[in-house]
Amino acid sequence: MDSYASYKKYGNKCELCGFNLIVESHHLLPKNKGGLHEINNLMVLCPNCHALITRKYLGLKNRKDIPSLQRKIVKLYKSSYSYFG
Ligand SMILES: [Zn+2]
Repeated sequence: MDSYASYKKYGNKCELCGFNLIVESHHLLPKNKGGLHEINNLMVLCPNCHALITRKYLGLKNRKDIPSLQRKIVKLYKSSYSYFG
């Protein structure tokens, strides 16, 4: 399995903020904690959101956390970047 399977399933854009120029796949349960490189353990993130999650500025444990994080991230980005509207 490769990352393209996750883009195919979850969309070719960040699942948190919708950014779609550069996307990466993120392991919900990190590989060093036994997380597998399989579709249910992957999500699609942009580099910004990926960094916020991996540096633990925002907590994301499973896909149920996605809706509340979407709201937080849109707020955060709006306060940081005027071009987000
Ligand atoms: Zn994002």
